[in-house]
Amino acid sequence: MILRRAILAGADSANVRAFVDRYGMQLGGARFVAGTTLDEAVEVLRRLDDQGLLTNTTILGEHVEEEAEARAVADSYEVVLDRLAAARLRTNVALKLTHLGLDFGEEVAYANVEQVVRKAAAVGNFIRIDMEESKWVDATLRIYRRLREAGHDNVGTVLQAYLYRTPEDLESLLDLKPNLRLVKGAYLEPPEIAHPLKQDVDAAYERLLERMLTECSYVAVATHDERLIERTSDLALQHALGLERFGFQMLFGVRTGLQLELLRRGYSVLVATPYGPEWYPYLMRRLAERPANVLFVARNLVKR
Ligand SMILES: Cc1cc2nc3c(=O)[nH]c(=O)nc-3n(C[C@H](O)[C@H](O)[C@H](O)COP(=O)(O)OP(=O)(O)OC[C@H]3O[C@@H](n4cnc5c(N)ncnc54)[C@H](O)[C@@H]3O)c2cc1C
Repeated sequence: MILRRAILAGADSANVRAFVDRYGMQLGGARFVAGTTLDEAVEVLRRLDDQGLLTNTTILGEHVEEEAEARAVADSYEVVLDRLAAARLRTNVALKLTHLGLDFGEEVAYANVEQVVRKAAAVGNFIRIDMEESKWVDATLRIYRRLREAGHDNVGTVLQAYLYRTPEDLESLLDLKPNLRLVKGAYLEPPEIAHPLKQDVDAAYERLLERMLTECSYVAVATHDERLIERTSDLALQHALGLERFGFQMLFGVRTGLQLELLRRGYSVLVATPYGPEWYPYLMRRLAERPANVLFVARNLVKR
C-alpha cells in the first residue's frame, strides 16, 4: 500500500515524468501499451484477434489543455473507428471523459462523447466510458444516463468497487438495464471515500458482482483476480447466465496465460489494449497496482 502510494505520487513528479517520457517505452512501456501510433496498435490488435481474444483500444491521454484539443480527440476517435471497421477487427473503444474535455464542463464532454458514440453506431461499434478519479463520478454517470436516454444503446460505463458510494450508484442505474464494467479502482482515493484495505475492496467487488450479473444487460468482469474470476463462473452457473450476459476483461500485458486459459474454457475475454504518445499516467497506474512491475522496468534498465 505504501509503495502504491509512492508510485502514484511519483507519477506527478516532473523529474520522474521527464525520465519516463524519454526512456519508458524501451524500459517496459511496450509491455503494457500497444505502441504510440494507430498503425502499431492495429498490428497488435490483429495478433490478439487471431488468438480469439476480443479487444478494446484507447488513445492514451487525459486532462487536455484546451477545448479545441478535446474536439480533436473526438475526431481522432472517429478515425480510429473507421480504421477498426476497415480492418474488420473485433475491437471496441474505451475512452476517458477528461480526454474529451470534461475539465471544460459537462456540455463539452457530452457533445464530444456523443459525436464518438454516434460514429460508433454508424460502424456497428460500442463505446465504453472509463471511470476516473472520484470527483468525476457524478458527471460521468450523468453523461452516461443522458446518452442512454437520448437513445444511444451502444454505450456502457464502469463502476469502481473501492468507492463506498458504488452500491448506491449501481441501484440508481438499474432502470437503464446498463452495460457495466466492474473494476476494483485504480486511483489514489482517501479513506473517507474509498475502502483503504484490499480485502474490503475484494469483498465489495464480490457483493457488487452478484447484483450486477443478475440485473445488468451485460457485465464486463474486469479483473486479474483468479478468486473473483472463479466466483463469476460459479455465479453464472448458479443463475444460468448465458455468455451474452458477461465476459472477462484484462489489461494488455497482464496475466496473458490466464486470458488464454479462460478463452479455452469457452469464456469471452477482452484485452484492453491502449496506444498513443501519452502513455505515462497509464503506465504509472499499472506499476502502482503491482510494484513487482517496477522490478520488470528496472531489469530492462540494467539490460540496456
Ligand atoms: C479491462 C480493465 C479496465 C479497467 N478500467 C478501469 C477504469 O475505468 N477505472 C479504474 O479506476 N480502473 C480500471 N481498471 C483497473 C482496475 O481498477 C485495477 O486497478 C486493476 O485491474 C488491478 O486490479 P485487479 O482487479 O486485477 O486485482 P488485484 O488484486 O490488484 O490483482 C490480482 C492479481 O492480478 C495481477 N495483476 C493485477 N494488476 C497487475 C499489473 N498491473 N501487472 C501485473 N499483474 C497484475 C497480480 O498477479 C495480482 O495478484 C481496469 C482494469 C481492467 C482489467
